[in-house]
Amino acid sequence: MKVLVINSGSSSLKYQLIDMETEGVIAKGLCERIGIEGSKLTHKANGKELAVEQAMPSHNEAVALVLNALTDKEYGVISSMEEIDAVGHRVVASGEAFKAPTLVSEETMKTMEEIKDMAPLHNPAAIIGVKACLAAMPNKPMVLVFDTSFHFTMPDYAYTYAVDYAHYEKYKIRRYGYHGTSHKFVSEEAAKYLGKAPSELKIITCHLGNGSSITAVDGGKCVDTSMGFTPLAGVPMGTRTGDIDFGAVEYLAKKEGWDLSQALAYLNKKCGMAGISGVSSDFRDLTAAKAQGNARAKLALDVFNYNCKKYVGAYAAAMNGVDCIVFTAGVGENTPSVREAICENMQYLGLEIDKEKNAMPNNGAIRDITGENSKVKVLIIPTNEELVIARETVELL
Ligand code: ADP
Repeated sequence: MKVLVINSGSSSLKYQLIDMETEGVIAKGLCERIGIEGSKLTHKANGKELAVEQAMPSHNEAVALVLNALTDKEYGVISSMEEIDAVGHRVVASGEAFKAPTLVSEETMKTMEEIKDMAPLHNPAAIIGVKACLAAMPNKPMVLVFDTSFHFTMPDYAYTYAVDYAHYEKYKIRRYGYHGTSHKFVSEEAAKYLGKAPSELKIITCHLGNGSSITAVDGGKCVDTSMGFTPLAGVPMGTRTGDIDFGAVEYLAKKEGWDLSQALAYLNKKCGMAGISGVSSDFRDLTAAKAQGNARAKLALDVFNYNCKKYVGAYAAAMNGVDCIVFTAGVGENTPSVREAICENMQYLGLEIDKEKNAMPNNGAIRDITGENSKVKVLIIPTNEELVIARETVELL
């Protein structure tokens, strides 16, 4: 069985064709700058790369180019679209309308339209991506896989915001959490690696990338997570504030003459690591600037590490202990100084890392960086959100 996984962003479309017998990637690629000047498709398969610079006014043209590349005589991997058995689409927000992966139908697409404002940067792009695929492959089953699904096991006291309960009932204002496919994947991989059933373990998964979130997984189930109603909450990120006092936002908006949308755009795009450092949102740039003595790059990293550490401590408290901490995603997999700072001074948990193992470069495999006397395992596990989407698609079908 071959599953095409589609991840539509506002101006991009990432894809992977996965062979579900081996779970191997047959081909993958990216369409960039959809809807703007300079659109480009990059397609990789069989160790070869195809680059196509062609106008893509919408996701429709992008999907058409992807299908062309997949069936191309020289760079293609299938002879016709008939070889694609199903399509799995990544969707960021679900609200409470979808608590699990869901088959695409007229009805589900109507609900998708109704909830699209919950993730205005992401969900509208996913809808366009689904429609474009439906137009090109009307007979293929398609599944929506949500970033939020893994988090629906949170108890009510963890997801309830302290607002007027009537507003929760009316508008479903609550914590949802994001990066669920990644937290699910790495927590399951951790259990496999440790040779235990997920039900036996308390795991804290740290998905640290451009967007970051931390999740408490008790007995295989999410019991709390740092992102909230939107992916703005939790630890500070590349350009997002993470948690902030709304009183400060109102004060700043008044001073700058912003309305709420402008304030929100500022919190999402101008803050976080980029805002504090004035250098970059990218952790490679920040680490390099800090090494050259840039005080604000150092401060940005200190703020990030400290906030991650607080969440780890909070989740150890929430679960009455922790057996394993997992680091994943761009920063979690590639930045030893961040892992070291987060795991520092955790003797109260009996946690210690092996600094030498931690400093080794990423080799793309699971790495155990647990210290010799540590009671808590510390693992680096490469995430694979596309594979989870493909698995969930097959499971549902
Ligand atoms: P996104 O949230 O966009 O998926 P990623 O998980 O790709 O983000 O993480 C991007 C971050 O990972 C950047 O800040 C980048 O600096 C950091 N990073 C550090 N080292 C590497 C590396 N070797 N490869 C990719 N990203 C890296």
